[in-house]
Amino acid sequence: MSFDNAAFKQQFPLFQHPENAALVYLDNAATTQRPQCVIDAMVDFYSRFNANTHRSSHRLARQATAMVERVRGQAAAFVNAAGSDEIIFTRGATEALNLLAAGLCANLQPGDEILLSAAEHHANLVPWQMAAERYQLKLRFVPLANGAPAWERLPECVSERTRIVSLTAASNALGFATPLAGLRAAVGNDVVLIVDASQRLAHETLDVQALGIDFLLGSAHKFYGPTGIGLLYGRRRQLQSLPPWQGGGEMITRVTLESSDYAEAPHRFEAGTSSLAAIAGLGACLEFLQGQDRAAMQRYESHLCRYLHTELQQLCLQRPLRLLTAFRYNEGRYSEGRDNVGIAALAPMPGCGVAMADLGHWLDEHDIAVRVGHHCAEPLSVELGVGATLRVSLAGYNNRADVDALVAALASYPWDEVSATAADVEREDAVWPAEDFSSLSLSDLRDQGSWQKRYRQLTRWAGLLQPKPALRLDANRVPGCESPVWIVHRCVEGRHQYLIDTDSRVLQGLAVLLLLLLNDRTGAELATVDVEAQFAELGLEKYLSESRNNGFRALVDFMRARAS
Ligand code: PMP
Repeated sequence: MSFDNAAFKQQFPLFQHPENAALVYLDNAATTQRPQCVIDAMVDFYSRFNANTHRSSHRLARQATAMVERVRGQAAAFVNAAGSDEIIFTRGATEALNLLAAGLCANLQPGDEILLSAAEHHANLVPWQMAAERYQLKLRFVPLANGAPAWERLPECVSERTRIVSLTAASNALGFATPLAGLRAAVGNDVVLIVDASQRLAHETLDVQALGIDFLLGSAHKFYGPTGIGLLYGRRRQLQSLPPWQGGGEMITRVTLESSDYAEAPHRFEAGTSSLAAIAGLGACLEFLQGQDRAAMQRYESHLCRYLHTELQQLCLQRPLRLLTAFRYNEGRYSEGRDNVGIAALAPMPGCGVAMADLGHWLDEHDIAVRVGHHCAEPLSVELGVGATLRVSLAGYNNRADVDALVAALASYPWDEVSATAADVEREDAVWPAEDFSSLSLSDLRDQGSWQKRYRQLTRWAGLLQPKPALRLDANRVPGCESPVWIVHRCVEGRHQYLIDTDSRVLQGLAVLLLLLLNDRTGAELATVDVEAQFAELGLEKYLSESRNNGFRALVDFMRARAS
């Protein structure tokens, strides 16, 4: 068997629709298109045997139940689970991760640790943050190195308190693929290992048993299936000790007014009526994927990804853009697509003044669909020091003509006009003059009766600081602050003026305080301001964490250094 891109694309009706004759769809990491067989299976369910499952005794209910259990078996085979009882249907990856965070963390002790990477999608971050707060757990992160988690440092991130390791199998923002084969050995056998395979299942066949994974999850809509349905694989012995998440019908064996007995897995985790038509669609999608030569498809996609990267790299030599992604994990060596699942992310060159949103609109005018934003991986984009990126993501139906159309449209952008704006941004004229906080007074803070009230006042001040993305250049970044802070300075008629930007709420409040003390002062005036004494007098020092105190000192030093 081999992979025939044209025949593959032919099966997707959206591309045959007259409205989409010229469409170049490169937003597959957000959602893929669906082949006709998936749409047909959903229509077939509604038009032939729609009924609720597992409950009624009539023929349609039996048919619907048989369909759901058949698809469960297909899903088990898809990831090579030991049995279909290890597959739970969820609404998608987000729901699966919430189920795991709530269930697994309930069994942990305060101080236990959960290890994530600094490049996770918010769906594999926020549920753990919520559980950590609830059960007093500690989150730790595999640090980043050159824009991807430093996987070689994984073993040293696992401590004796680590109970759960939950990692993405591929970054939705940058596309790098996690080296799954070495994961279990790197984290040891004593932790629960969770893999968020949302961005990987469309591109590669994964074997949960060979990889030693305890839980693996993904959303069907990212691998040619319907929205509203996802699969969660759970190793049988892990599922046995996992408490149920949502309560309701279907997940119980006996209910009294006082208490209930829960069903065995997987039904214990499937309260209420599932999205049955979507399960029918998922079944057709799994059959569709099984009908492909997946190894050949993966080779095709990785060659296309290499072509995309090479072409964009060329473009970046001529335009003020930079490519954040590459085939990079194996020291830059191209290795059949396992390094990158088909994503390229572009950012503007520092100071060039082009907004990625404008490029996104430009591409849309050429009927080219991409995505601009932080792609639900905000800590990653903050860490990389980039704002919004323009993400291009491939699927099996894309081809070289799509990449050529993208590159041609990007090249034809009116870049000459951008350079005029770029000069403006470099001078930061777009954001000067600085905000005026003269109506605020230190006594607004000092007079608050308690630390909690003072803190609330500080966060109210934080809301007054306007975001200034144009400042976010490496040259403006304050060293020594845990959260990134950018400051620019200018001296106008002997007066020192500052602009500050940061995402941290507390630092925004502190920035307003600093501007109140230091902005628009002459050198002589600045010499008389004792910031540290004011800070101590306000009683902030002893309530802020050590890292915030250090951050505050770094800001003061930076501002003073600029003025001198
Ligand atoms: N994890 C990753 C890596 C993702 O890319 C996404 C979706 N972008 C999710 C989780 C969440 O998926 P869903 O919105 O389908 O629940």
